[in-house]
Amino acid sequence: MKKYLVRPGQRVKLAAFNPSDTRLVPDKEQAEKTFLGLQARLAALQEMLFAAHDRKVLIVLQGTDTSGKDGVIRHVAGSFNPQGIRVVSFRQPTSEELDHDFLWRVHSQVPGRGDIVVFNRSHYEDVLVVRVHELVPEAVWKKRYEQINAFERTLADSGTLILKFFLHIDKDEQRKRLDARLEDPTKRWKFNEGDLKERRLWKDYRRAYEDVLSKTSTAWAPWHIVPANHKWYRNYLVGAILVNALEGLRLKYPKRADL
Ligand code: AMP
Ligand code: MG
Repeated sequence: MKKYLVRPGQRVKLAAFNPSDTRLVPDKEQAEKTFLGLQARLAALQEMLFAAHDRKVLIVLQGTDTSGKDGVIRHVAGSFNPQGIRVVSFRQPTSEELDHDFLWRVHSQVPGRGDIVVFNRSHYEDVLVVRVHELVPEAVWKKRYEQINAFERTLADSGTLILKFFLHIDKDEQRKRLDARLEDPTKRWKFNEGDLKERRLWKDYRRAYEDVLSKTSTAWAPWHIVPANHKWYRNYLVGAILVNALEGLRLKYPKRADL
């Protein structure tokens, strides 16, 4: 799984990452079967996290439109007990949010002790869509990589395990998924005119993502590049990385001193 981790300081060129890669478990059925086991393990780990009421877990999901953020939330976050998990979706900032610094709306949503929070989009939009559409001057967004690293460092220093996932699909796969949204009445509600406009900016987004991955993968908040053309592999991989990271916390059920 280390293959998918961006090392701190690594200069990422997305062309070097195959979005159709399935190398760890090439067989779909096998991956789906393994994933069921991972879901059970995630549920057990979450219960310990909640019971111990000490550490905090923040999962950040980023990727272009149709990359599968909602799918990961349904399949992976769906493994957890709803009492201990919260999903926060970041949309266009409100005027009140815009009156504050870009981290204001984000900081108020981070996990407390024993919680898992999933960010569906995040503060990274402030160096992605904001950069691509020049919503603030370059001098402003350029500083944000460092500000983000410092912010995440603060969260990590207060006991937050931070895991960031970039869901990597290619342009053809996006075409297929957008077409499916248009053709399939059960998916049409997801279709958004704006997505076609964003698609024309594919190269700009890619460059912006390469900078995010190169500048903000740190020891305390690493990025994973998840090949996401195959939904079953994407789910398996995110599940496996989460299990691995949560096991690394060496969680234990607390003892009661009075018994
Ligand atoms: P969706 O994820 O499909 O619900 O779309 C949310 C939209 O909000 C996307 O187009 C994002 O780019 C946009 N968005 C999220 N955060 C920001 C931000 N900080 N500034 C501008 N647009 C944002
Ligand atoms: Mg959308």
